[in-house]
Amino acid sequence: VRTVVLSGGTGSAKFLMGLQPLCHYTVVANVGDNSWFHGLYVCPDIDTVTYALAGELDTERGWGVRGDTFNALERLRELGSRDTWFKIGDVDMATHVYRTALIEDGKTLTQATEAIARAYGVRDWRILPATDSHVETRIRTAEKGEMHLQEFWVREAGRLTPTTVRYAGARAARPTPQVERAVASADRVILCPANPITSIMPTLSIPGVREAIRRSKARKVAVSPMVGQGAYSGPAAKLMAAKGIRPTSLGVAELYRGLVDALVIDESDREMERSISKAGMECLVTSTLMRNRDSQVRLARVALEA
Ligand code: GDP
Repeated sequence: VRTVVLSGGTGSAKFLMGLQPLCHYTVVANVGDNSWFHGLYVCPDIDTVTYALAGELDTERGWGVRGDTFNALERLRELGSRDTWFKIGDVDMATHVYRTALIEDGKTLTQATEAIARAYGVRDWRILPATDSHVETRIRTAEKGEMHLQEFWVREAGRLTPTTVRYAGARAARPTPQVERAVASADRVILCPANPITSIMPTLSIPGVREAIRRSKARKVAVSPMVGQGAYSGPAAKLMAAKGIRPTSLGVAELYRGLVDALVIDESDREMERSISKAGMECLVTSTLMRNRDSQVRLARVALEA
């Protein structure tokens, strides 16, 4: 069975680690949170997935390399850099230095990502950026106008009021041939429990991706990142509301309508089961909390067998 998984970063990483003992798979990773810091091209979701699959992710924080230090960042702050609000560890920084050098050398983001994953010993799981083009999730806020998702979430600590979200560069972007091939030959496509607005929609907004998934004969399953009237973590609820989507698993179902065959929701949202089925997809109810390795594997198995 060829499995393709659409991912974001932290929530996705927990799910992908749960899926690791069950099968080999190809990750189509979000690029909407990519950005430049200190002249380096930083790809937070791709790196989170890479470190997770390599067993080096700091799982407490949900990002970065376990045990990393922040000496370079501290020195950058002392030198006068204003960009040190985005936390980059010393070992993590090496990834960005190497990736930027590869890209300046003419390699694509896909090639750079593969080289880094290989160096990290990730061989049985493939990590593909959704596109080689730069796509950027931009959040308009009531207080300070439009900004990059990272500025909204990290620099401003998610405190501002989002009014709209757009994916700059998405319309001109194309999925890579590797992504097109992976989706076309997939038997199963899984949408991770990830922020729908900042992790899944940037990928689905690239012309051709939604159609390719829809066309594929794969069984398509999404896992909801929502529980009750909100998300397990992060700004998903606020951003869904800004998009006019209700911040619940039912909202996720409406967003993925026509794309997925089944949605896995949390047992505490059992009362949404009928409305979700009416939205035209099967609804599976289980505990979706990924607290530890066992619950990660359990949820991954549900999605794999759904
Ligand atoms: P990001 O790129 O770092 O925002 O990471 P993702 O989009 O991959 O993951 C963030 C999403 O994961 C949030 O919307 C959370 O609600 C969701 N999430 C985090 N932990 C869990 C969990 O234990 N279970 C489920 N179902 N979702 C989770």
